[in-house]
Amino acid sequence: MNGVANLSLASNSQVGEIAFIDLKAQQSRIRGRLEARLKAVLDHGRYIAGPEIEELEECLVARTGAKGAIACASGTAALIIPLLAQGLKAGDAVFIPAFSYNATANAVLVTGATPVFVDIDPATFNICPEDLERRIAQVRAAGKLNPRGVVPVDLFGSPADYPTLSTIAEREDLFLVADGAQSFGGQLDGRWVGDLAPATATSFFPGKALGAYGDAGAVLTQNLEDLEIWASIRWHGTDSGRKESIRFGFNGRMDSFQAAVLLEKLEIFDEELEARHRVAAVYNDRLSKFAKPQVHFDEARSGYGYYSLCLKNRDAVAARLNTIGVPTAIYYNTPLHMMPAFSIFAPDGGLPATERVAAEILALPMHPYLTPAQVDFICCTFEEAVAAVE
Ligand SMILES: *Cc1c(COP(=O)(O)O)cnc(C)c1O
Repeated sequence: MNGVANLSLASNSQVGEIAFIDLKAQQSRIRGRLEARLKAVLDHGRYIAGPEIEELEECLVARTGAKGAIACASGTAALIIPLLAQGLKAGDAVFIPAFSYNATANAVLVTGATPVFVDIDPATFNICPEDLERRIAQVRAAGKLNPRGVVPVDLFGSPADYPTLSTIAEREDLFLVADGAQSFGGQLDGRWVGDLAPATATSFFPGKALGAYGDAGAVLTQNLEDLEIWASIRWHGTDSGRKESIRFGFNGRMDSFQAAVLLEKLEIFDEELEARHRVAAVYNDRLSKFAKPQVHFDEARSGYGYYSLCLKNRDAVAARLNTIGVPTAIYYNTPLHMMPAFSIFAPDGGLPATERVAAEILALPMHPYLTPAQVDFICCTFEEAVAAVE
């Protein structure tokens, strides 16, 4: 086995350092244009609500097919805004998958409502519609909480089963707010994330597929009427003159510098998305013999914010990969219903698919600047590591 590892180290020196996410390569590609955009903000001095904000909102609408968009302070703010607009209060139940980033649960809790954890589909890693129906029925039967909405998450960039979720939401009279924080650039049936649910929150955290240079996010809508109330909530619930608060709100704004960065990054986003797909296609092709890559619902096109697969001996394989110079990450080791802050909401009997996937999931390097030689090296190393730990 030593021989295998040494061989790998030797070839690693040929492929260079492999980054899990490479923001430097991207920056050096557009550095000049970024500086010009940032300089424009320095020159006009409208650091909040500068012209870049509306320009970005228009770009987001144009490229997603959504009817409207508002730029927000973060993906978390982008989730909280449409949830607050639903008038959530104590005693309301919001159904969320237990396999997500903690922001999904926190956004519900901020409104005073109670998160109800739902299991995932073990192949797509997204919320399981059948389990959702079961839990809605349970909550109604228990009579303690009032079911109000569902927040599906497009995990790792892969759109959830929106056709089925929309049918359930309509039948059960629940709102649907999509947590698309990881899925900007994803598509289902030819429609982009942002136009798959009535409201979609997305995140521009630096490490997401479209990342700012700080915190930023956006809410996209299929109904123009939402925009006015969302914009008000984003600015302390103020009236259109931004003087008096007419409803509860907070500071949920994006600053002009972040919008400037995002506008420049959007110029190369399509190319980057294609590059992500090329990487994912090689991973899928070469690694599905050894592990179970994420399955995309109904041939959805993932935004490939992340590339994750399930495998036995996950921790041992990850340790070998890391030693040989292939960085990995685990999203998520601990499902939400098992985190101390949220475990009081854990369902009796746990969530078997979520817990199984959490024990087997592994994320590989995913970014548009991986070279074919690097992708090849990662696949070879993965194959060796799986064989070595068996
Ligand atoms: C990143 C993320 C968020 C929160 O986005 P921030 O911009 O970090 O606030 C919410 N939900 C999911 C699933 C995420 O991955």
